[in-house]
Amino acid sequence: SIDRASINRATLARLHERELAEFARRNPRSAEAYAAADHLFGRVPMTWMNKKAGGFPLYFESARGSRISDIDGHEYLDFALGDTGAMAGHSPQAVLDAVSRRIDTVGGITTMMPTVDAEWVGAELSRRFGMDVWSFSLTATDANRWAIRLVRALTGRSKILFHSYSYHGSVDESLIVVGPDGEGMSRPGNVGSPVDVTLTSRVAEINDLPGLERQLKHGDVAAVLIEPALTNIGIVLPEPGYHAAVRELTRRYGALLIIDETHTFSAGSGGATRAWGLEPDIVVIGKAIADGVPSGAYGLSQELAERALARDDLDLIDMGGVGGTLAGSPLSIAAMRATLQHVLTDDAFEGMIARATTFAAGIEAVIVEHDLPWAVAQLGARVEYRFARPYPTTGTASAESADADLEDYLHLALANRGILLTPFHNMALMAPTTTDDDVARHLAVFAEIVGELVA
Ligand code: PMP
Repeated sequence: SIDRASINRATLARLHERELAEFARRNPRSAEAYAAADHLFGRVPMTWMNKKAGGFPLYFESARGSRISDIDGHEYLDFALGDTGAMAGHSPQAVLDAVSRRIDTVGGITTMMPTVDAEWVGAELSRRFGMDVWSFSLTATDANRWAIRLVRALTGRSKILFHSYSYHGSVDESLIVVGPDGEGMSRPGNVGSPVDVTLTSRVAEINDLPGLERQLKHGDVAAVLIEPALTNIGIVLPEPGYHAAVRELTRRYGALLIIDETHTFSAGSGGATRAWGLEPDIVVIGKAIADGVPSGAYGLSQELAERALARDDLDLIDMGGVGGTLAGSPLSIAAMRATLQHVLTDDAFEGMIARATTFAAGIEAVIVEHDLPWAVAQLGARVEYRFARPYPTTGTASAESADADLEDYLHLALANRGILLTPFHNMALMAPTTTDDDVARHLAVFAEIVGELVA
């Protein structure tokens, strides 16, 4: 439960006004660019860029490693890292070299031919995530969509089961939440869904095994598609034993298990799948594996792959609904290889996770010092705090712990002091380039702005 009273709302409103004024003062060029963007839907290149605590977004100029600069000439310490797309740090040299070789030295951004690098990437993903064979996409959304089509075709069942308040990209089937009656309903705000989502999907809260079993018992679930921990409604970690029970239930009721590692890749170089010993039938991943060069992938067992390839009623070659022209392009594959081989290596994760541990401990110390009803969670190289204590254990509880005014104030006060968090919640991600000093600087600022709030 949230104790909103613990924060004096008048103080919060006063500090928020002060930070809004400072944001406007610091960023005249960004304000002007936003005011002039008359030909963009919502004034931004992508409508989610309107998630802005300061009234207008900061306009991007340049980035390297963990540093990012805006058009007003401010440098930021970047813990948003493109919402994981840039988890490897911005533009590391190895990725630049591979991409510029592809674009410039030898040429060929996209063709209709495979490159030999693709097998290297497939083998490396197998080493890390344990799946036998891989196929590529340009986004994690598409990897999820194609995996969903495959499991429907292979099982002959119609429904996909998700965690409530999960996010797997703009996948039609996934926009479902647990409603007040405990059954699925369309996620609030779902834009133009093709059919009633309850026709295609089922839903259960993470950590609710009886709820999951009740849904699986219908016998119409082709696959359970989940993140190992929720990461897009704040982090929500699985309770001990949860994943073993999910695997047992999916097997008992004949459903496949798809694990989406797009964000939980922060748990280690083989994601949570390796870190926690999960046994999925399909793994989906995207974004960070090519350091933000458009890419995604799904891996499946040899057995599933053979069953799909043996089916002559499934058109996997042409227009059967699985694939895209630019998927697996020479450019995308080159960026994946460079990122996995040279940047997001097994060794790199050790430092990233150590820094996240320090980050989380620092947040917890500030929470305890002021006796705030907030709590912190860590998922490898990723840290999150929510405005509830104890920490929420379901998606719905995590959604309810959001506090828009408080969040906007903290994000704005951090930005005005040169620090960026992921805009949608209080999430910080460590890149291989994030240093101990960076973590210390964030904690000093966090302690200062929280201290002012509770004074
Ligand atoms: N899966 C997960 C777990 C994600 O967090 C996201 C995006 N935040 C996606 C899939 C979709 O990725 P993309 O927008 O690159 O398709």
